[in-house]
This record gives sequence, C-alpha cells and structure tokens, in this order.
Amino acid sequence: MDTKTCTKCKEEKPLTDFYQHRTARGGHRSVCKPCGNAAQAAYHADRYANDPEYRDKCDAKTARWRANNPERSKDLLLTSTHGQRAARIGAASERVEYAEVIRRGNSTCGICHGPVEPGTESLDHIIPLSKGGSHTYENCQLAHLSCNQRKGSAA
Ligand SMILES: [Zn+2]
Ligand SMILES: [Zn+2]
Repeated sequence: MDTKTCTKCKEEKPLTDFYQHRTARGGHRSVCKPCGNAAQAAYHADRYANDPEYRDKCDAKTARWRANNPERSKDLLLTSTHGQRAARIGAASERVEYAEVIRRGNSTCGICHGPVEPGTESLDHIIPLSKGGSHTYENCQLAHLSCNQRKGSAA
C-alpha cells in the first residue's frame, strides 16, 4: 500500500488519508486530512473572530444556504445537536434523518397518538439520552413538540 508521511504530525499514513492536489508533488497534499482540516478550521475560527468582513460573508453564506435548504438545515440542526449530545455521553448514535422519522411515524405522535400537523412536530427519544437511550431510528419517534416538552419536564 502506498503511504506518505504527513509534514505536520509526522505520521506515516496511507495515501487515502491525504487530499488529492493536482499541482502538489506526487499528486497529494503534504499534510494529512485531519491535519489539513484542523488547519482550515483554525484559520476559519481566527479570521471569523478577527475579520468582521469575513464574518459577515460567512454569516451571509450560511443564511443563504439555510434559506435555500430549509428542510436540510432543520435536519442538520436536529441531527447534529442530538448526535453530538449522544456522542458526548457515549450513547450509541447513527445519522437519523428527520424526514425519515416523520415518514416512519406516519404523522402520528408517539406520545399522545394524535395526528401531527406540520410545524408542530419534533423528534423524541423514546428512552431519553440522559437515561442511556441511543440516538438511533429504533429509539427515535415522531412526537408533538408540546408532548415532547411535557415528557422532558416530567423526566
Ligand atoms: Zn497529519
Ligand atoms: Zn402528541
């Protein structure tokens, strides 16, 4: 297997751990993907904090993307916060698509079993993450936001 040594972390890694780059020697970047991503994230965080113009541009871009992808951004928000919370407490987690939970739930609230109107829906963990439940389809159900909140405050 072809490997390459990252100039940043100095680890020898398979070529698939390096981004391809047309003009770089050997066709790959000299730093591995994790190092490259970390550098990119640090650069972004730094400029975002210190360069108001850059910040405005980024925010505008995010807002535009959200406006163009309302379902995707809702999905992303839900899955990312839930998934991250699950990961943080060590619970099992898979990528749960909001639309798929709605489809599986058949527009019926898993808590009160009433019909769920668009705009009142939420994703409920049958066993709460705080009680060891997992962020998986098996443990996710469609529920009214109000039912979900009532359950949350009762738990
Ligand atoms: Zn590296
Ligand atoms: Zn309900």
